[in-house]
Amino acid sequence: MRSRSESQNIVFLGGGHSHAIVLRQWQMHSLANTRLTLLSDTKKAPYSGMLPAHVAGLYSYEQTHIDLPHLAQLAQAKFYEDKAIGLDLERKQILCLNRPPLPFDTVSIDIGSTPATFTVSGAKDYAVPAKPVPVFLRHWYEFLQQVETTPNQPRTLAIVGGGAGGVELALNMQQRLQQNSDQVAIHLFQREPELLPRHGKWIRRHLHNLLRQRGVTLHLGEAVREVLPDKVICESGLSLETDIVFWVTQASAPDWIEKSGLATDERGFILVNQYLQSVSHPFVFAAGDIAAIQGHPRPKAGVFAVRQGKPLFRNLQRTVLGKPLKPYRPQRFYLSLIGTGDQSAIASWGPLGFHSPLLWRWKDHIDRKFMAQFPH
Ligand SMILES: Cc1cc2nc3c(=O)[nH]c(=O)nc-3n(C[C@H](O)[C@H](O)[C@H](O)COP(=O)(O)OP(=O)(O)OC[C@H]3O[C@@H](n4cnc5c(N)ncnc54)[C@H](O)[C@@H]3O)c2cc1C
Repeated sequence: MRSRSESQNIVFLGGGHSHAIVLRQWQMHSLANTRLTLLSDTKKAPYSGMLPAHVAGLYSYEQTHIDLPHLAQLAQAKFYEDKAIGLDLERKQILCLNRPPLPFDTVSIDIGSTPATFTVSGAKDYAVPAKPVPVFLRHWYEFLQQVETTPNQPRTLAIVGGGAGGVELALNMQQRLQQNSDQVAIHLFQREPELLPRHGKWIRRHLHNLLRQRGVTLHLGEAVREVLPDKVICESGLSLETDIVFWVTQASAPDWIEKSGLATDERGFILVNQYLQSVSHPFVFAAGDIAAIQGHPRPKAGVFAVRQGKPLFRNLQRTVLGKPLKPYRPQRFYLSLIGTGDQSAIASWGPLGFHSPLLWRWKDHIDRKFMAQFPH
């Protein structure tokens, strides 16, 4: 058994919102006898709250991204840029794409989620998922560049997924594109008969009307069956020729999580208890989209990843100190602020909704304050 004076090796896998907060907290409250490592497949971590407005051109790349190597350095953690491709829970190692396996005593996982492209034929090859964000942004910048170069050429952009992410992207993309061209047709496909089915009635109706006013063509109750290099085809037979397709459907987890032997929920997300600790492997912690808190199902939203930062920090430190862990309970109702790309925002709180430029100013203040904690 490890003596208390021996050094504890904690590896943070993924530089998501929760880990950014944990590292920031660790910088302020460091512990002796711990070695910290951050493993991330990107040096620049995007902040989801500001990403749609970056797409609209309201924030720069730097304003919306956290510099992870710098953040790690401030917390006296090593930084490795590589992609985890597996977990060996027997040997307590992370298997990496390029590096040798990375050993740990405790691992904390905050790798987010990606829209599921594997469920529809051709989506993996021909659609651009909204995550990983670096890949999404590369395609978005390329498309913007093409529009800027030849603004009079008619083009069609499709977004598949009518949840909060898809709707917010549609509004923000529309605002950005209209600055350069009136020749880009935007189409939004939603499998269900309504947009944002988990939000209140007012929000659903309001966003429906707003998208139509902005010229976005809505295809409600249309499930995309196949994506081809230049076309999407729906189960109904509807087909649309496209120049680019963005994929913003249900969140999914990488399959190596389940293959590692970690207990997961039915969608492959890591099942954690009220301490954000794996229910099957106590030396594994998880937070953000990749975690599913047993008995408290919640939507995959950045607001939870942010809220879980401090409880995760507390419990990782308590693990090192050999103290009992403290429970965390995710809030049942949460405020969604949806930016509409024109310096205005919509608030959604349970059944209530409100749309105003004042909400944008408030959201802008909250987001800037959040990002001001981190190096860019
Ligand atoms: C288009 C869109 C708009 C959204 N807008 C909002 C919004 O306005 N408000 C809101 O609350 N939520 C929003 N969301 C949801 C939000 O993005 C997520 O809930 C949030 O980012 C989850 O944070 P996280 O910490 O779990 O992971 P993430 O922020 O996704 O971070 C995970 C990190 O881990 C890294 N990583 C992933 N896999 C590996 C690996 N194998 N090895 C190493 N590193 C890895 C990634 O590069 C990434 O940096 C939006 C989602 C989408 C798709």
